[in-house]
Amino acid sequence: MVRKRKRKEEQKFKLDKRTQYYLNTLVDIIGKMYGDTARKVIEHIIESGGSAPEETLGRDAGVKSNEARKILQKLANEALLTCRGKKVGDKVLHFWTLNLDQVEGILVNRLKRTREKLETLLKYEEENILYECPTCGRKYTLDNALDNDFRCPYDDTILMETNKEEIIELLKKKIKEIDDELRKLGVRVA
Ligand SMILES: [Zn+2]
Repeated sequence: MVRKRKRKEEQKFKLDKRTQYYLNTLVDIIGKMYGDTARKVIEHIIESGGSAPEETLGRDAGVKSNEARKILQKLANEALLTCRGKKVGDKVLHFWTLNLDQVEGILVNRLKRTREKLETLLKYEEENILYECPTCGRKYTLDNALDNDFRCPYDDTILMETNKEEIIELLKKKIKEIDDELRKLGVRVA
């Protein structure tokens, strides 16, 4: 009887390829957004099968308890974690559980926001002619360059039109990478 129940619990957090991919991406994003401590906390919860008690989390994840608590709260605000008290022996432990069904939405939103920022940058680069001072490296818009007779006001060097191709290529490449990620997450991309 006990054995059977144990097996059932293990199955609860069985990870298919798609979920595994979501979780890896999630760990990366959490690390970028909230830092290394947060990364350790979320990794620990995932490794614990999706749920871990607050009382031992700091120690088990190798982070300070008060920092772990702050991070748990932040992730709860993102609807990523839920806390529930559970009686273990004669104590009540506070279990933090990963909301798997929230993960996909959070990832997609994050990617979409980044994509929008990149699109804005790309548009700016494409629409604005930029000039650069070969001496000090300062950049000028066409209007600024005109105002200064195409000379750098700091060192009087003649301004050169910047090589935007490289930047534009890089931005397009990053946008394409995000589109690939979004497709993997099942989002329709134009
Ligand atoms: Zn200059």
